[in-house]
Amino acid sequence: MNKDDIKGIRQLLTSPKRIAIIPHRSPDGDAMGSTLGLYHFLLKLGHNPFVIAPNEFPDFLAWLPGSEKVSVFEKDKETGIRMLQEADIVFTLDFNALHRTGEMEHTLVTLKVPFVMIDHHQKPDSYATFMYSDTTFGSTCEMLYNFIREMDGEHLIDRTIATCIYTGIVTDSGSFRYPSTTSATHRIVANLIELGIDNSEVHTLLFDNNSFDRLQLMGQALQNMKVFPEHKTAYITLSQKELDQHHYVKGDTEGLVNYGLSIKGIIFAAIFIEHREENIIKISFRSQGNFDVNQFARDHFNGGGHINAAGGKSYQNMRDTIKKFENIIKSL
Ligand code: 5GP
Ligand code: MN
Repeated sequence: MNKDDIKGIRQLLTSPKRIAIIPHRSPDGDAMGSTLGLYHFLLKLGHNPFVIAPNEFPDFLAWLPGSEKVSVFEKDKETGIRMLQEADIVFTLDFNALHRTGEMEHTLVTLKVPFVMIDHHQKPDSYATFMYSDTTFGSTCEMLYNFIREMDGEHLIDRTIATCIYTGIVTDSGSFRYPSTTSATHRIVANLIELGIDNSEVHTLLFDNNSFDRLQLMGQALQNMKVFPEHKTAYITLSQKELDQHHYVKGDTEGLVNYGLSIKGIIFAAIFIEHREENIIKISFRSQGNFDVNQFARDHFNGGGHINAAGGKSYQNMRDTIKKFENIIKSL
């Protein structure tokens, strides 16, 4: 973080403020962990913070401390708009462009109060007054730990805040396996464990919560997988019909994209999921090594993200989307 931004944010926080904290739409473990971690920290500093998520967060995160207090903008827009308009400061966490908040963007762009961004995605937009943006970090939660340290608040990190931060670090690092996991990450985690978090229990809560339906859906996804060894690529499709058959609930498709990468020799994996209501195909991309899926998602599928994990969408139907994808990979 640069010194001016640290000074500016400290200045903002010298007197009690109403503070809106916002994760991206369809928040993941890092988005929820970082927003709730910051929420608990700002509470301890004597502010009046509130987390307002653009849409519903998945069940596998509903145990996070404070999640019961999170407002969901798209469930009650009138209240959401009023809350945002009453904020003195807006923190946006784990995203780099206001359109990642969906409909909430229309309200956010009208606000005149200072914005603070904490984020690790590439090519951040310039909406924020104070920016802590660094793509070398594996998670926004790891950045939040540093942010709290810069605010001279490390001693205020308790088990609750630590649990939130640990959640984002674990989920965004693929349980410490992605290359962005550094010695600094592990040092922070060591501190969190010393603060008394039940790290093993967090893993259980995050990952051992499958329903039978979800496992069946996973089976379907694996059956649908297509592999192109000569292009080191594998992809999965899931149609709305297949989702319905297995009583899909939010979060059920989380992580499925990674199975492609687990095949020996595959360095590029994708999953295409039909969203009939929104009339789009939502796509997730993952890669190993230097293949830049952020660029791929930007170039071809209206998306973005990181070098090894990105997402995007297609407005064509599944068949045409797949045809387009196959043509692109064959031309790479
Ligand atoms: P996921 O595949 O897990 O949804 O997303 C992987 C990464 O890509 C995340 O960091 C996420 O923020 C980013 N991402 C996912 N979908 C989109 C999208 O439609 N646009 C942009 N710019 N980034 C995305
Ligand atoms: Mn993240």
